[in-house]
Order: sequence, then structure tokens, then C-alpha cells
Amino acid sequence: MSAGRFRIIVESAAYEKVAIARQLVSPTRVVAYAAGISIVMPAADATMTSLRAVPTGQPRAINALEQPPPKGSKATIRNYVYPWSELAASKDLEELPAMVECFERWLGPYPFEKVSMVQAPTRFGGMENAACVFLNERMVNGSGNIADTVAHELAHQWFGDAISIADWADVWLSEGFATYYSTRYCEEWRKGGDLAGAMEAMQEKVLRDPLLPERPVVARPSGDLDQVLSPMSYQKGACVLHALRRYVGDEAFAKGMRAHWKRNFDESIRTSDFAAAFSAGAGVDCTRFLAVWTRETGAPLLQARVEGSRATIEQRQPGAVFPFVVDVDLIVGGTPIRREVRFETERSVELKVEDAAIERVVLDPEHWVLHQ
Ligand SMILES: [Zn+2]
Repeated sequence: MSAGRFRIIVESAAYEKVAIARQLVSPTRVVAYAAGISIVMPAADATMTSLRAVPTGQPRAINALEQPPPKGSKATIRNYVYPWSELAASKDLEELPAMVECFERWLGPYPFEKVSMVQAPTRFGGMENAACVFLNERMVNGSGNIADTVAHELAHQWFGDAISIADWADVWLSEGFATYYSTRYCEEWRKGGDLAGAMEAMQEKVLRDPLLPERPVVARPSGDLDQVLSPMSYQKGACVLHALRRYVGDEAFAKGMRAHWKRNFDESIRTSDFAAAFSAGAGVDCTRFLAVWTRETGAPLLQARVEGSRATIEQRQPGAVFPFVVDVDLIVGGTPIRREVRFETERSVELKVEDAAIERVVLDPEHWVLHQ
């Protein structure tokens, strides 16, 4: 789908009480920014009904905070913070050049001319305006604890801003991706991170969520758009990407994501557009994988049965069989033997060891796949 024309409404009142000051028409999905007034960006056509308003108060003095350019990047970094927050911001935004470097390495060049984090009174923790991210004014306080939020909003420049969504139902292409890449930055790029531990915690959060049996990742919102922003689009979306990475392997995953970036840049897309571009780049057809994982509710219920030297690994949830690849450790004589199990359309897979009894089975020891 080509870029449409989007109305940009410049408003001066709070989010709940929209008082339109004036309307502009933009030829692309540009989000503008002006100090002291806020921006909403609803689409002109009916498929995408509204984006976020950013509530603002009175204009405040802000100071520019320069940072060194990211290594090997064409982007420049210029942040805007309240004068009294400069010291705090220089600590809180310390990692921003490294984040840009990381995402450029994984995905492709930063899509805009400049990177800006702007301290602002937004309704959320962060708001991913293109090239002009709003960070909640209270979060920029020198805690040094906001790398996850900063990385999340920065990842949105690739996913959500430069590649937009054609329908709210597919918002995971923005939120799930930003959640996964900010987690990867914090745990995988930084030294001493623990991506497996972070994904395990995320998977547990999704499994405990009451929405899991009711709402798939791709779901049309009814009425209240805030319903779109649920753990199903954020955390379950991120879990789908993590399982997809295990399904195709690291190298193919990186190629698939770069192909997605190249083919869908400056477009408004659906999940099927991502599936087509990713599959072509990865060299693995992931159409069914993505269809099942994003359109089915719940998660695979994975169980292992052991009989002597055989183990049967089975999906026991009602409904569709989930495609995925999972590591299985067969414990023999106290020592794990690692096997890779691939599920496509069959519900169970049998494993055997030679002339020895399997004592027990450990499923997915590195937490790649969301499962019960
Ligand atoms: Zn987000």
C-alpha cells in the first residue's frame, strides 16, 4: 500500500478534550513537532482512524543537548530537555548513540536525519513521534533507568514510523517489534545481559494475562483504541518474534528483518506484507508460522512423555497446531543430550536415544518459545 495523505491536527488542549487549533495535510506519515503544542495524526481514510494525541501544558523552555554521532551513522543526535534537567538527561540518555549503532547494525540505516529525545509532559512513558520522541518529563530524572523506554521509542523509528501499519489490528508490527528490539538491545547488545531470562519473564507475563485465551495478536479493536495497546500486541508480539528467530535461525532472522525493512520502508503494511518480505529475505516460508501465531489465541501446551529410550513431545492445546522449533534436553545418566524438535502440522514428535533410558526431559531450556 502506498503512502496516503494524512491529516495532522495541531491541538492545544489536553488529550481528553480535543480542541483543534488548525489542521494541516501531510503527504506522508509525518509527525510534526512544535514546542508547547501537541500533535495528533489520524489517517484521512477509514482504515486507520486515529493515532495518539500528546497532551501538553504551557510552553516550557527547553535546551538542546548534543551527543556525539553514533558510530558509522549519518544521523545526528540533538535532544531537548528542560534547563534544570540537563544533568539528569545526560545520564539518562547516555546510551542513545550506542542504541542507534545497534539498531543500524541489526536493521539498516536510521530512517530520519536526526535523532531527538524531547522531555515533554506526555500521557505515556514515551511517544514515538518520528525523529522527535517525547519522553515523559518525570522519567528524565537522572535515575539512569530508562534505557528500555528510550530503546523502545528509538526502535519505533524503524517500526511504526518509517514502516507504518495499515490497520490498528496489526499494531504488533509496531509495538511488538519495538518491545522485542528494546529487550534485545538491553539484554543482548549490552555486555552481561540475559536475553533468555528476560524472554522467560516476558513469556510468563503473557501466560498469566487473562486476555491470552481471548484475543489473538492481530485483533480488530472494538471501540476503545486503548484496548489495542495490550500485552498481546506488545509482549506476545515480542514473543512471536523471538520464536520466529529460533524457527529460522539467527542469520536468516537478520536477513529477513533487513528485507522487511528494505521492501516495506515508507509503506503502511499488514502482517501478510511482513510475512512476504521476511520470508523472501530469510529464505524460509514463514507464512503459516506468522498466520497461526498472530491469529490464534493462546499458546502451545507442550508436554513430554517418556518411555524407556523414547520421548514423545506433544502439543496438547485445543485448536491449531503451532509451527515452531524448540530445543529439548533429554537427560540420560544425569547428562543432557540436546535435540532440536521442529513442529509444522503434526501434533507430536518422537525422539529416541540408543540403548539408554531417558530419565527426564527439559523442554525449551533457553526460553525461545512461548508455551504453557
Ligand atoms: Zn511503543
